[in-house]
Amino acid sequence: MADFSNSDFVTRCIHVGNDIDKETGAIRRPITMANSYRLPDDASTLNWSDPNNIIYTRTTSANQFYLQERLASLEGGEDCVVLATGVAALAGVFFSFIDQDAHVICTDVSYIAVYRLLHEYFPDKYGVEVSLVDTSNVEEVRKAIRPNTKLIHLETPGNPTTRVSDIAEIAELAHEAGALVSVDSTFASPFIQRPLELGADLVIHSLTKYINGHGDAMGGAVIGKTELIDKIKREAMVNIGGAISPFNAWLITRGIVTLPLRMKQHSETALRVAQFLEAYPGVTFVAYPGLESHPQHAIAKKQMHGLYSGVLSFGIDGDVARHNDFVNALQLIISAVSIGHDESLIVYTGPDDERINYYPEEFRKHGFLRFSVGLESANDIIKDLTQAFEKVGL
Ligand SMILES: *Cc1c(COP(=O)(O)O)cnc(C)c1O
Repeated sequence: MADFSNSDFVTRCIHVGNDIDKETGAIRRPITMANSYRLPDDASTLNWSDPNNIIYTRTTSANQFYLQERLASLEGGEDCVVLATGVAALAGVFFSFIDQDAHVICTDVSYIAVYRLLHEYFPDKYGVEVSLVDTSNVEEVRKAIRPNTKLIHLETPGNPTTRVSDIAEIAELAHEAGALVSVDSTFASPFIQRPLELGADLVIHSLTKYINGHGDAMGGAVIGKTELIDKIKREAMVNIGGAISPFNAWLITRGIVTLPLRMKQHSETALRVAQFLEAYPGVTFVAYPGLESHPQHAIAKKQMHGLYSGVLSFGIDGDVARHNDFVNALQLIISAVSIGHDESLIVYTGPDDERINYYPEEFRKHGFLRFSVGLESANDIIKDLTQAFEKVGL
């Protein structure tokens, strides 16, 4: 295979991890749906759990291997581990690096499984101390650090607040304190934000979202130094068993080919939609890192390469019933969870959500709408929002 290490990002999206198929000459690698691989003639010294030797699909598979190579290259990391879902990747980090009686700092409003693992599971089962902190405020992070702080986990931009945390400043603080920094960079994708270049130790993705981009396969990844990734492979992948299907790994590898094009389009359309919503009288607030009004717009501008991805949250003037009526009046935009798909997706979270008290004030009163702006035309998206606003009298 040619060496693409000096190629540009967009070129590496296409070529790293691909090769000519030796058997057929096909110019792309096939999907290898196999659980087992032929052992060497002498297997007496084999490490059966070696995550870098393709023996059994739970300990790694051919398509997983190729995807790991591509993702490591795109994030600028030494190595990568791919697992079945984003949550499997996050759990892999937590189970590998949080010891009993350690202290962990985590973004206060984060993905729900992260909140439950760190706020409930680890403290209750293993006596781990966890501080949930508004990590968009570096001073709050500094104040939360303790002598036994082992991990600072950031989610930036955060789901669903879109709050942005300063990765470089927090990485510096963490390293002074001897802690690792992991960053859930799912909302940005490596085209927009590369946490390892900013000093983070581990970057985590739900591949289910922008990286696959087509809403048809789930996966998760962690990228970082070989020593750290190897620990996750040996402890979490081999022994906990959240292996990805080779088919999903193949689909995600294919999805990445268009990542740069998609991220540019998502970002451009989302900014237009955010500006439209901000100017609309019935809209109470819009949270989007690309807007000048976003409290961390300056940090976002610094670490997100001038693009702000496709997710925004907003509020409308009205009670729960009006929110439901609004969502149900939409014709193009689909009411469904997930983000980063080709189609636009919207979710209404009501004021009785289990974490509502952690959300920023404007999110709490009547709940909020999280909107993953898809790849449809901005005109059609704005037209759909407008007709739905009119239908509910806004
Ligand atoms: C969706 C999501 C996850 C979880 O990923 P799954 O693939 O659904 O397990 C984690 N973090 C963020 C920020 C997400 O949006």
